Amino acid sequence: MPKNKLVDFRAVREAVTMEDVLSHYGLLDNMKRSGDSLSGCCPIHTGSNPTQFRVSLSKNLWNCFSECKHGGNVVDFISRMEDVSAYGAALKAIEWFKLDPDRVYAEGEGASEPTEPRSSNEVPARPKSAPPSPPTEAKPEGNAPNPPLKFRLDKLQREHPYLTERGLTLETLVDFGVGFCAKGMMAGRIAIPIHNPDGQVVAYAGRHVGEPPESTPKYKLPPGFRKSLELFNLDRARLESGPLIVVEGFFDAMKLHQLGHRKVVALMGCSLSPAQEELIRRHTDQHSQILVMLDEDAAGRSARDEIAIRLAKFAFVRIHVFEKVDQQPEHLTAEQLAEVFA
Ligand SMILES: [Zn+2]
Repeated sequence: MPKNKLVDFRAVREAVTMEDVLSHYGLLDNMKRSGDSLSGCCPIHTGSNPTQFRVSLSKNLWNCFSECKHGGNVVDFISRMEDVSAYGAALKAIEWFKLDPDRVYAEGEGASEPTEPRSSNEVPARPKSAPPSPPTEAKPEGNAPNPPLKFRLDKLQREHPYLTERGLTLETLVDFGVGFCAKGMMAGRIAIPIHNPDGQVVAYAGRHVGEPPESTPKYKLPPGFRKSLELFNLDRARLESGPLIVVEGFFDAMKLHQLGHRKVVALMGCSLSPAQEELIRRHTDQHSQILVMLDEDAAGRSARDEIAIRLAKFAFVRIHVFEKVDQQPEHLTAEQLAEVFA
């Protein structure tokens, strides 16, 4: 088993079906098939109610409506069954299903994943028109939080053509502490600090400048950092009033902030982890309004309903639907943003 290699979680998810995994565990015959779905007792919490666990074959996702109160993709499933991290689960899937190493290992840029149980550091964004990208992180409960960093990346260049191109003003970049990093682990990337709700920096995300080549991740995160435990910009959004907007990406959040809507958090992906759900619950109440504004692409559309349903347990939730395919919050003008709340 290769060590310290970056796993392309998306490639693993695409190569393995829930049927493969259930069959691996000898569970497929226990499931009832009906159209696109399989249902049965939940093998994760070893439930006895045959309607609690459901699999969507077309979406390649599972859900437990009982004790697990959770769902996810094949990697999440293996992670829960084996009680290992998403990374560990992906390695198992690669081994069990003899996946092509050339496809599932991303040759890194020096970054490596820990081989010990830690959660995944999947890249936050995924290519446009990618297939639905379901929740990828699992088991954040009962684990230690991301420790605050003991260093700061200083000397970041605020002025960089890429940042100008994305429409961010110098004021916004200073506000978020974002800039081009010339050296160190994020060298050659745009460094974006991620804060915990108390405002301590827990990681820097490194955005590749421009569209990266196939094998290069768009975002680089420090090994061991678990983004599923954080919500980008929550430390400041929680102090603002008005509706909370939930977006996918760093740039969406920074852009809405720049347009004057500062109560915005980014999932850093298009899935809501249980820990992120809990963070939102803790910082809202039953009078709070939440606007789920994911990208208008296949992944965003497929994720937003489930996210809205989960948040609706404790707040008023609305889903924003963009008029055109592939639109995203980052593209909104001030006028368009005002119309969203008109
Ligand atoms: Zn369950």
